[in-house]
Amino acid sequence: METALKERIFSFIDGTEELAVELETELCRRPAVSPASGGEGELEKAEYLGDWLGSRGFTFERIDIRDDRARGKLRPNLVVDPAGPVPAGPVLWIMSHLDVVPPGDASLWESDPWTLVRRDSPQGPRLIGRGVEDNQQGLVSSLIAALALRETGAPARPVKLLFCADEECGSAYGVEALLRERPGLFRGEDLVLIPDGGDNRGETIEIAEKNILWLEFNTRGKQAHGSRPDLGANAALAGAELTVRLHYELGEIFNGRDPLFEPGYSTFEPTKKLSNVPNINTIPGEDLSCMDLRILPRYPIGEVLKEIDRIKGEVEAKHRVSISYSAPQSVESRATPPDSPLITRLSQAVKEVYGVNCRPIGIGGGTVGALLRNKGLHCAVWSRMEDTAHQPNEYVLLSNILGNAKVMALLMLKEGI
Ligand SMILES: [Zn+2]
Repeated sequence: METALKERIFSFIDGTEELAVELETELCRRPAVSPASGGEGELEKAEYLGDWLGSRGFTFERIDIRDDRARGKLRPNLVVDPAGPVPAGPVLWIMSHLDVVPPGDASLWESDPWTLVRRDSPQGPRLIGRGVEDNQQGLVSSLIAALALRETGAPARPVKLLFCADEECGSAYGVEALLRERPGLFRGEDLVLIPDGGDNRGETIEIAEKNILWLEFNTRGKQAHGSRPDLGANAALAGAELTVRLHYELGEIFNGRDPLFEPGYSTFEPTKKLSNVPNINTIPGEDLSCMDLRILPRYPIGEVLKEIDRIKGEVEAKHRVSISYSAPQSVESRATPPDSPLITRLSQAVKEVYGVNCRPIGIGGGTVGALLRNKGLHCAVWSRMEDTAHQPNEYVLLSNILGNAKVMALLMLKEGI
């Protein structure tokens, strides 16, 4: 690409340090905690951003999803068109989220989580506060990148920024609602960068997720005195046998390996258990046990459920109990091809800005990427970040905000430049 243009873009971005700090400060003081986590939602933050975008002459649309629990009874999502209306053809989306998680244990914070603190460190200035990384780092970088392209007059490809609600609590009022209520918003050939995960060198690009299946088993037997199991049907024993069998037997049946993932195999883990009887000398008549299954994408969830039903039937017969189950979460995920133009261009841009060689990875699952990939969109989760999300004293490096903005600006440029 034209070196002079790139230099202009990069030097513009280098000059936005104070803007990045100002945006982070203002976003940090507007806690956008989801009502599900005891907060008021994203309205105040979205209004601030709307004012900021308007004052800078950016066109945007706010898509409000009704939620009676939230301030204003709504959950706002912002779609920004940095270069005005987008022509036909694939769009590059940069998608970050407005909501943040609560601070957690307040005594672990060295400063007020909602007041941005700037500190020097060996890697340059750090900005500290809840939400500064997750996901304001990505949001601010994308705004700076869009600004850089516009201010330098660089020719851009069709780009949209999306700041969505409710990412931390399942996206029912965010991406999921947008997919449902605005079916034309995303198109199959669109490319989506999600700057909401990564590593401190910026070398991993997440392109795939395991299928997720959460299961809650309810086992009903017959309560009896601890000394007379012969008169009862021990639901705790049956529930334990079920989850232990599922753990080992599903692992043997669905035993494929895939080095893209860590760990590179499917996992079938017993997790939550509900307490049953209060005393030791009663045989429980009921048992509630849960499992968290993370399955390589090659195995459809339906196939796994068939094996679960078979094993469940055997346990029921053996212990004279009845077992029902529900699946609080069941998500299958398609991978983005490693040779997608999104991955190729992103790897080139990261190499150019940070001098780092990227590699694609898969993760255990649970991001909005899966929702979009299942619609056929190519999605990459990438950031160079310190990975302090959800922790006390969450921080970002100012240099990463600006460096990631450079990567995003390169991605936004028209191809062939
Ligand atoms: Zn996040």
